[in-house]
Amino acid sequence: MTWFSILVLGLILLKWAAQLWLERLNRRMVLSHASAVPEPFKPIIDETTYRKTVEYTLTKGTLHQVELTYHTIVLLAILFSGVLAWVFGVFHAHFGTSVWSMATFLLLIALALALPGLPFDWYDQFRLEERFGFNTTTAKLWWLDRVKGMLLSVVLGYPLLLLILKLAEWSGAWWWFWAWAALLSFQLLMAVLAPVLILPLFNKFTPLPEGGLRERLLALAARTQFRAQSIQVMDGSKRSRHSNAFFTGFGKLRKIVLFDTLIQQLAEGELEAVLAHEIGHYKKGHIPKMLAASALGSLALFYLLSRVAAQAWFYESFGFQPGNLVPALLLFGLLSSVFTFWVSPLAHAWSRRYEYQADAFASQVMSGPDELIGALRKLNEKNLSNLTPHPLYSGFYYSHPTLMERERALKMPPGSGSNGIQLATA
Ligand SMILES: [Zn+2]
Repeated sequence: MTWFSILVLGLILLKWAAQLWLERLNRRMVLSHASAVPEPFKPIIDETTYRKTVEYTLTKGTLHQVELTYHTIVLLAILFSGVLAWVFGVFHAHFGTSVWSMATFLLLIALALALPGLPFDWYDQFRLEERFGFNTTTAKLWWLDRVKGMLLSVVLGYPLLLLILKLAEWSGAWWWFWAWAALLSFQLLMAVLAPVLILPLFNKFTPLPEGGLRERLLALAARTQFRAQSIQVMDGSKRSRHSNAFFTGFGKLRKIVLFDTLIQQLAEGELEAVLAHEIGHYKKGHIPKMLAASALGSLALFYLLSRVAAQAWFYESFGFQPGNLVPALLLFGLLSSVFTFWVSPLAHAWSRRYEYQADAFASQVMSGPDELIGALRKLNEKNLSNLTPHPLYSGFYYSHPTLMERERALKMPPGSGSNGIQLATA
């Protein structure tokens, strides 16, 4: 083993240990509140439902621990057994090193690496989610989703890989910049096209039907100068009883999507508040800002990749010959989460800040926070969300503030500095 492979081994084990420790912290926190409904939640949730949220959180935590360990073992086996270098050697000998053949190699490896996770996805959907009454997916639909996902990654991934490898061939020392530009253009194109081309492959979207709710939401849209023909209902109930709402796309192709399950669960005023929150994301320009931040992040990663791809030790540590960019791309793809995991609290803190801003916007246009608070309480209850996560756990994994944090921020009088910068504190 080289110093670099020992470093990589250490970093993988460190991330694994940190994740298991976070699970433990969270578990202890949940157990310490498990005996009775904590005081602040008494008006919100009954004893039976609260007990169910605790059990759901603990069961998911256990599955997550097993899954983390399994994926760590798989990653270590792939990296340190020499199998990657062997497969690359065989492929290389049979199909040469043309851009076409190398893009095929990367795509096949990516598809193969997705296979070990399938049993866990299955278990999660048909055992865990089933047990807590959420699953509505049939086995046929589940397989169909996997096949569609795989075909999409071939149809979209192959041209992108070809383009990146071609650019790397043509542009010399600055290849990383052009490869990044290609990836960014692709991401922008997808952000525009996904709502119209990709999401409909998985779900049916219908305009919100005529009636009181539609009138009410259109009035809100008019009040906030939001073009409202884009309020769509998604048949989320086809896969799960979990409920949600989201905002996606740009310009004329943008969509506000309400799950049909959400419409069943919330009262009209609460749905209006949820829509107001989503409009808040739009008005504050959150999607372009998030895209810009992730573009800067991937620019940094591409630069780092170009630096390590120039070092012989990077290749030799895992049994490859230096000189071909493809193994470097592969190794970098496998290892990037070892670094990005540590940055995720920052990214999530930023995302939570946007959630507070969208909440504040909703409260403002709804002349008060009551409807939104009602909606958030029901959402947490119906989805059996963990009401008492450990602050470090939510810091690492939650893109949204917890119910208590959001209520606290919403109830603060305007102008008292409730700009949402405060982070997850219990
Ligand atoms: Zn939001």
